[in-house]
Amino acid sequence: MSDHFRYANGDSLEYWQAAKEGRLVFQKCRDCGHVQFPPRHHCESCWKAELDWTQSAGRGEVESFTIVRRAPLPDFRDKVPYVVAAIAVEEGPRMLTNLVGDNALDVAVGDKVKVTFQPDKDGEILPQFELV
Ligand SMILES: [Zn+2]
Repeated sequence: MSDHFRYANGDSLEYWQAAKEGRLVFQKCRDCGHVQFPPRHHCESCWKAELDWTQSAGRGEVESFTIVRRAPLPDFRDKVPYVVAAIAVEEGPRMLTNLVGDNALDVAVGDKVKVTFQPDKDGEILPQFELV
């Protein structure tokens, strides 16, 4: 089952399944209410292991970014230049992600973004962000 999700492990399978359905989800601690990403076995705030899944509105803001102009690996050669950004998502977590879309290179700190679901070269669906 999980071999259909190349990036999934026991903690993140639900995240990848949701992405395939076009939903961005985070873990939310049943005890202290902390919302976290990436998925983990325990709450990173209070260390309890009672986590539920909550759906994100998929909105956030650019905290920081870099534009990659030299491919780090041959697989990335046809993607440069591309944007890697730290996104402060409305529900609280920070996601390190690609910023995609025709105007991605115009990005500035503080820009509003929304989630988009993009297949990678093997068809795995990756939550990424684009400028609003
Ligand atoms: Zn907690």
